[in-house]
Amino acid sequence: MGSAKVVVAGSINMDIVVRAARHPQPGETLLGQSVQFFAGGKGANQAIAAYRLGTPVILIARVGDDGFGGSLRAFVSQEGLDTQRVLATAGASGTALITVADSGENTIVVVPGANDALSPVDVEVDIEPGDVLVSQCEIPAQTIEHFFVRGKRLGARTLLNAAPARPLAPTLAAAADVLVVNESELAILTGAAVDAEDAGTVIAAARSLQPAIENVVVTLGGRGAVACLGPVSETVPGRRVEVVVDTTGAGDGFVGALAARLAAGEPFAQALVFANAAASICVERPGAAASMPTMAEVLAVL
Ligand code: ATP
Repeated sequence: MGSAKVVVAGSINMDIVVRAARHPQPGETLLGQSVQFFAGGKGANQAIAAYRLGTPVILIARVGDDGFGGSLRAFVSQEGLDTQRVLATAGASGTALITVADSGENTIVVVPGANDALSPVDVEVDIEPGDVLVSQCEIPAQTIEHFFVRGKRLGARTLLNAAPARPLAPTLAAAADVLVVNESELAILTGAAVDAEDAGTVIAAARSLQPAIENVVVTLGGRGAVACLGPVSETVPGRRVEVVVDTTGAGDGFVGALAARLAAGEPFAQALVFANAAASICVERPGAAASMPTMAEVLAVL
């Protein structure tokens, strides 16, 4: 029997990374050292993570009709993903302006652009029982809520990655079967003091989000992840990696892999172990989407 599919409704962005000796003062113009363009966005990254694992994936997103729109669509299609649901909208594509100083410190300004135009009608795709629907907080909340409510009615499971963290409307929380957050997002959502070194504080904060959301998964960087699945809690220790090259995209790798294994019908606790292994591979490689592993690569470290 084939896997059910993963349907991601989310963001797609062009990241413009400028390197400079230091950050400019307000009103100051500096000469920088380099500029690079990276296609990404949590929606696209998570869709690619699931697709590289051999899962059928639909990505629903919007790009602008500016110069970046075509590049963003090409980036998704080069991965082999269908771009039929990557729609064009008038105006700017989602863009992140990132300045990295020699100190390594960065400043980021994200402009949602076309991501803000992803509408409830856009997300009405064919859903089958067992499909896993995934979204993050970079598209309008009402679109996520419609996507999830309709999907659940059609027998799908829904996974919300509340990143970047923002207060969740009770109706949105009620439509999410699974919540995935990192430690700081958990602290913002709950207002609780969360200390990754103290699993008790993580579990207590995660439990405070239940029963609104039945399954709450908290990623803890190199420490792995903790999950409250109904009344049961699971701890997945981080995999020890030789060298941490670039953690960008690790969270997206985790979410994409978790969704892929849930769509394949794997029990939740096993899917968590798999997602933790997949995400650990992301940190051993540069880039975000580029660092997502294949099934063979994950199986090799499990
Ligand atoms: P990012 O914003 O960097 O993409 P995040 O803050 O959303 O990440 P993290 O909790 O930092 O999410 O990492 C997600 C998952 O990636 C972790 O649960 C773990 O499985 C894996 N991971 C992250 N950092 C490491 C590490 N140093 N060693 C091993 N695994 C890691």
